[in-house]
Formats: sequence, structure tokens, C-alpha cells
Amino acid sequence: MLRNADLALYAAKAEGRATSRRYDPRLDEETQERRRLEIGLRHAIDGGELELHYQPLMNAKNGEITGAEALVRWNHPERGLIPPIDFIGLAEETGLILPLGDWVLRTACAQAATWPAHITVAVNLSPAQFRDPTLASVVMSALSSSGLAPNRLELEITEGVLLNDEARTLATLACLKEAGVRISMDDFGTGYSSLSYLRKFPFDKIKIDQSFVRQIPEDSESAAIIRAIITMSSCLGIATTVEGVETGEQLAFSVAEGCDTIQGYHISRPLNEAAFQRVLEVTQPIMPTTVRRYNHELKDALPAA
Ligand code: C2E
Ligand code: MG
Ligand code: MG
Repeated sequence: MLRNADLALYAAKAEGRATSRRYDPRLDEETQERRRLEIGLRHAIDGGELELHYQPLMNAKNGEITGAEALVRWNHPERGLIPPIDFIGLAEETGLILPLGDWVLRTACAQAATWPAHITVAVNLSPAQFRDPTLASVVMSALSSSGLAPNRLELEITEGVLLNDEARTLATLACLKEAGVRISMDDFGTGYSSLSYLRKFPFDKIKIDQSFVRQIPEDSESAAIIRAIITMSSCLGIATTVEGVETGEQLAFSVAEGCDTIQGYHISRPLNEAAFQRVLEVTQPIMPTTVRRYNHELKDALPAA
């Protein structure tokens, strides 16, 4: 009875203050499902069930592939490929994000070290990783053991990283930047999007959240917001990536607005490592023609300024 009362208490707490919950057998099932997932994830990290997929990043000016974002997947023996949204939260709550993040960094650096020297790799870091005082040395160790040049590694952080213990986080970021690693602000335009962060830390790149480009061409507000972020970033000397570009029109709009890098299904979905290597070998010369075509032919279809 006490255990069940506890489950109800946790459920009430999870919903915020001044609320009550009765025990419900479903709470038990949820707890057990989480526990199973946690044990499975622990096993996945040690047992080689994680894999990285790479989504190509395209230079908006000349159509060349300049790098890729590493995106983790859990290749579950029964459930197949599980997307990060289904396990990153659990990994953060249980502390498993530290060994998971370590694995992602080491694997991404080791694989990128085998790519041509001008191709970069971007790795996502979650706020929980910044609470670990050894983060900077974990990154440096991944670089040195792979032999990857620091300027080929980009770390993507969301503003959630800067919400707590800002001073220590900024010190860690400064230390990484000093070592030559590049730092990007991910999903910009969602959350609080405090502009003061842009003054506090010299980000190398801003990634404009995909929710804005998704509304192009119908929504003139989204178009205005993308335009404004690109203008602001360029005044600050920060490069921009438009995320989630799915159509030729969205590509044409982003290119015409002067963003630096394009990412999205229209260029390529995330690929396994072997397939990404083939993109680097095969499609490199095709991309510039594609961009030039969209840039010139489809500009007329853009929403008005
Ligand atoms: P993110 O860093 O913003 O990554 C971009 C996400 O958008 C990826 O989803 C990608 O597959 C998806 N995407 C890219 N282009 C398009 C498009 O044109 N249309 C649509 N609908 N989606 C597009 P994914 O791989 O499911 O990852 C989701 C999030 O999970 C990532 O968002 C990132 O926050 C997190 N994540 C992924 N890998 C890692 C990791 O290794 N560590 C941590 N801490 N987080 C990760
Ligand atoms: Mg990202
Ligand atoms: Mg993003």
C-alpha cells in the first residue's frame, strides 16, 4: 500500500504543485515499462545497439556538402530503430546520458576522422552533459583518440543548456572554443530565445528551428522571422543554418535570404555512415546545379518581403 501511495505521490508531483492523484494500476505499468526501458538502454550502450546516422549539411552558396549532423538511434533487437525522442529524455533522467553522450562523441569523431578533411561533424549535447564537470575533457579525449582536428567538430546546444549554472556552462563553452571546437545554438526561435545569450557567448552558428521554415511559403510571419534572424546573425558575424527544409520552395527561400547552410529532407534524410560516405563520393558535383536551379528558377515563388 505504501509503495502504491508513493507511485501516486510521484505522479502528483510530476504534474506540479497543489494537485492530488489516486493510485491507478496503470501507474505501476508505466513505472515497470520505464524500468525495462532503462535496463534495455543501459545494455544498448554497452552492447553496441546504438548507431549514429548522419544528415548532410549543404553550403547554401555553392551547393557543396560541408558536413553532417550526427543523430543517435537505438537499434533495438525487437523494436527496431528507436528515434532519440523516445529515449534521450529517459537517458537524461537516469544519468545514462553521460555514457551515451560519451559514446556519441567518440563514435562521431572516429567516423568523421575517416571522411575528407574539409567535412565537419556536428554533435548534440544535452543540458545534463553540461552538469558533468569533466565534459570538456571528455570532448578533448574524443578528439585526441580519433585524431580529428578540433575545428572539424561542432557542438550543438539548445538554450536549455544556459538556463542553469550559467557561469560554469559559459566557462566550459569558452574552454572548448579556445581549443578550436565550434559551438552552435540549436533550435533557435523556440523556447525563450533570449537574445542576451548571443551577447554572452560568441556562438559560431545559429540553427533556425524547423518550425519556421515548415510554414513557408504560406505564412509571411514565419518568412519575416527567418529573414530577421539571418540579418541579425550576419550583423553579429554568426553563420546560420535553416533546419527542416523539405521542399524546393523552402530551399529557394532560404538560399535567397542569404543563410549559409541548409539542412533538411529536401537535401537528404539522415543516413547510416556507409550511405553518407557514398553521398560524399557520388553526389557532390550534382548538388551545386540543384541549388543554382532552385535559386534562379524558383525565386519568383517566394513570399513577398
Ligand atoms: P535536432 O538536433 O534539432 O536534430 C534535427 C532533427 O530534425 C532530427 O530528428 C532530424 O532527423 C530531423 N529533421 C531533419 N530534417 C528534417 C526535415 O526536413 N523534416 C522533418 N520533419 N524533420 C527533419 P531526430 O534524429 O529524430 O532527432 C531529434 C532530436 O533528438 C534532435 O533534434 C536532438 O535534439 C536530439 N538528439 C539526436 N541525437 C542526439 C544525441 O546524440 N545526443 C543528444 N543529447 N540529443 C540528440
Ligand atoms: Mg541538433
Ligand atoms: Mg534542431
